[in-house]
Amino acid sequence: MRGAVLYGPRDVRFEEREDPKIIEPTDAIIRIAATCVCGSDLWPFRGIEQLSRPQPVGHEYVGIVEDIGSEVKNVGVGDFVVGSFVISDNTCEICRAGYQSRCVHGEFVAQTIGTQSELARIPLADGTLVATPGMPDEDLIPSLLAASDVLGTGWFGAAAAKTGPGKTVAVVGDGAVGLCAVLAAKQMGAERIIAMSRHSDRQKLAREFGATDIVTERGEEGVARIKDMTNGLGAHSVVEAVGTQEAFMQAVHATRPGGHMGFVGVNYEVHVSGLEIFFAQIHLLGGPAPVRRFLPELIDLIWNRRINPGKVFDLTLPLDQVAEGYRAMDERRAIKTLLRP
Ligand SMILES: [Zn+2]
Ligand SMILES: [Zn+2]
Repeated sequence: MRGAVLYGPRDVRFEEREDPKIIEPTDAIIRIAATCVCGSDLWPFRGIEQLSRPQPVGHEYVGIVEDIGSEVKNVGVGDFVVGSFVISDNTCEICRAGYQSRCVHGEFVAQTIGTQSELARIPLADGTLVATPGMPDEDLIPSLLAASDVLGTGWFGAAAAKTGPGKTVAVVGDGAVGLCAVLAAKQMGAERIIAMSRHSDRQKLAREFGATDIVTERGEEGVARIKDMTNGLGAHSVVEAVGTQEAFMQAVHATRPGGHMGFVGVNYEVHVSGLEIFFAQIHLLGGPAPVRRFLPELIDLIWNRRINPGKVFDLTLPLDQVAEGYRAMDERRAIKTLLRP
């Protein structure tokens, strides 16, 4: 088969790789129907995350099961499946509590598998993959793919921020995850949803997804605008979907005392002062999203055409042009690139 391999900074190659095979009886092999480039793929692409050797890349995927190990029971050959970007057994105590992204047998798809390829071996298939009710119509595929990470991550951000009826929600970040957090807040019944965005095309999509207000200011100016809109108190719920120092502190300061902040931006460079957190007096929950927890509900919403998160993809390329997909996102010519084998 062919797949994408990252050799070093800005050097993604689409090349011949060995066909994956069933190794463990709990594995499944899937033929990738669609995959994509993630904001987090840009970290190693830009060389911020060092590689020790050439590495297969990609962790978001939907596809058709081609082969299963002898112990796989929940999915069968021919099923169309959506999987999380973290492998999980979905049976351990941490999984059962809803934190499948920290499964005791967990592993990151990005580090070992690489789904920007024609085929992929998915370990712990029963715990990781969820089958759709049937073969999806072509127009549902982008949304199902979004469920694999960006939608699930935005959803977790909104859930961690305790979004719900009567709440004012602020979303810091207008990338695919931030936009999906707006969509999630709307589905969860938030009263007011403030999208913090400077880009007119993304503001438009944020409105379509349910944002009631747009704030273009950043940093402490952005915080001041949120306070103006909330009687000086700050938002009940804030989702941080960027991962920079400025965005993180903007989210902390925009959350009212006793409020909740969900942070889902991968924050390589964020340093937080203990005293700042002490006096902020807010609930903080973040980390890699337990997408698997939300998958059945998200698939149902997409299948019944209640949500259309696939709109975050604004560039579709054949998989063999994966390198251009990275460049387009790196140079901010695209929000998110969808790749079709
Ligand atoms: Zn991702
Ligand atoms: Zn587990």
